[in-house]
Amino acid sequence: MYPVKENLHRVLDTLPAHVRLVAISKYHPADYIMAAYEEGQRVFGESHEQEIRTKHETLPKDIEWHFIGHLQTNKVKYIVPYITMIEAVDSLRLLREIDKQAARVDRVVKVLLELHIAEEATKYGLSKEDCMMLLDDGEWRQMKHVSICGLMMMASLTDDEQQIAREFQEAADFFDVVKQRYFHDDPQFCERSWGMSDDYQLAVGHRSTMVRIGTAIFGPRVY
Ligand SMILES: *Cc1c(COP(=O)(O)O)cnc(C)c1O
Repeated sequence: MYPVKENLHRVLDTLPAHVRLVAISKYHPADYIMAAYEEGQRVFGESHEQEIRTKHETLPKDIEWHFIGHLQTNKVKYIVPYITMIEAVDSLRLLREIDKQAARVDRVVKVLLELHIAEEATKYGLSKEDCMMLLDDGEWRQMKHVSICGLMMMASLTDDEQQIAREFQEAADFFDVVKQRYFHDDPQFCERSWGMSDDYQLAVGHRSTMVRIGTAIFGPRVY
């Protein structure tokens, strides 16, 4: 079997204590997840509704599941009963639907707003302006079943470390603006989810509080 345990510890050993690891297990089998679970890992991230549903049903119930992918509004109702955090909220419409579905099952679901800073035009996420507009609009303040816990972003897919560092720094600076303007009295708004297998050490240097690491733990994904 793939050396999941060794890889997990190698990653954990390099993370400062205040940075949480979300082990990204999409496309990987349940026994890989269990190998990490047996070492104490409890937070896992998935990006497809059907896959996370199957895994949630069969794996231990004390796993904290994070949904990290693009989420269609019509899929929200399936994951809301058990999901801990939905990391990639990129529209008011999606936020509303999460609040509505979470109300039906009497839960409060943690969410992050996904920021688009990378150069790729294809990536999802809110521009800084759109993020401000969503928050200025204020409707979110009435939503009792979502808790906005911070920002999530993905850096550009490039080998240019300086560019990646600039993007992380831009996200960190923007976090401060948002925190100050909308969440200064809300201690829940504290998460900065950036950093993946290839760039998490850089991300940690730019104030990440939560890294999402798949390949460096579980190996290449077979799609
Ligand atoms: C797949 C994925 C990751 C993990 O990427 P790795 O390079 O395998 O660490 C992190 N974040 C998101 C949003 C992803 O979709």
